[in-house]
Amino acid sequence: MHHAALVLFVGLGLCGAANGCASDPAYPEYPLDGITVFVGFEEPICGGTFDWMEARLRWLEAQTGVAVSIPSISYYWLREDVLDYCPTGACAHGTKIYSPLELFSHELVHGHLFQLGRPRPWLTEGIAAMLEDSRWSVLEPAMTPSEMLAQSDARRLDYDSAASFARYLRDRFGMPAVIELYAALDRVDAQETPNVFLAVLGEDWRSVEEAYVALTPDPVGSLNCDFPMLAPEAGTWTLPIASAWCENAAAVGPFLGLDASFIPYSERHVIVEIPEDGLYTLIMTSTTNAGVGVIACDEPLDGFGRYNTHVNESIEFVPGRKRLTIVTEVANEAVGEVVLRRGPAAVPGAPGARESGTPGQASGGERGAPGRSARGGAWHPRHGQIRADSGRGPV
Ligand SMILES: [Zn+2]
Repeated sequence: MHHAALVLFVGLGLCGAANGCASDPAYPEYPLDGITVFVGFEEPICGGTFDWMEARLRWLEAQTGVAVSIPSISYYWLREDVLDYCPTGACAHGTKIYSPLELFSHELVHGHLFQLGRPRPWLTEGIAAMLEDSRWSVLEPAMTPSEMLAQSDARRLDYDSAASFARYLRDRFGMPAVIELYAALDRVDAQETPNVFLAVLGEDWRSVEEAYVALTPDPVGSLNCDFPMLAPEAGTWTLPIASAWCENAAAVGPFLGLDASFIPYSERHVIVEIPEDGLYTLIMTSTTNAGVGVIACDEPLDGFGRYNTHVNESIEFVPGRKRLTIVTEVANEAVGEVVLRRGPAAVPGAPGARESGTPGQASGGERGAPGRSARGGAWHPRHGQIRADSGRGPV
């Protein structure tokens, strides 16, 4: 290797260590309300993306009762460059957050709550996962609260378990108390945590843990359903899938993964109001592979997800608002139609026959496992390659 090339290589290596760089690369910068976005890719940004980011931050303020931080959040919306800052593919360093778009809503929670301090991972990750723009079931948490409390490294934490326990605490004590606990546990170690827990919540850690593990946990996540309502005509909802969707003011994307092997896609959401329970049929026809999915906005959790060119699916719904999401590939956008109507599918057992009533099961994968789809409203089969971050401060 030539000396010049070696110097360059070493220079890049140091710079890539995140702490060794005097300044960040000059990413194009988009100042939004309460958040500045630095964009590390060339692809066009879909029409509704920045609105969605701002709305998510406003929602976090309302949900947590914590005002937007000063300095405001810097979001480094990166693809492979994110690995220069975060070994796991997404992380938060104070109010600077680094991730692909898939994990933006999770990292935003870390960036927003950084002003309160740094509790241990069971709480920082539990709240971040609970407040993600997503919704999924955690039927059998893999870790107990005390097992999670012992973990000082977020990479050894089960995020689903953390989200589940955080939701339990919010349901039982209320969000203001959970936020108070968050601040009170700033840099408090595992041994001292139960004392602070008792002082803030007025309950013993052990007894709360025992009550929690005796329950079947509720679903977790905080699905954003602040999207236009699609009205039915004669009991049928119809939504065209059009080319150039990314330009639409309701489209969010591009979702780019962490490297070039990921097929970029964008999402578009509408809300449908299911008036009564029973069987419904969802039919999608598309010129190329596309994703279609439905997740309940409210309790209980129902829904499904598919990625194909044709879908003909009978689904059993309970009444309520559902977020209907259509996913199209950026480079190969689909043209077609989605139709949702009352009644069972015309051809029983047709391709796409219902496999499961919950998105997590329908996708056949857990969080982080290849093939998961419905969770987070992100449908692409490769989405699962991305694992949520640490959320820890810089090492
Ligand atoms: Zn996190």
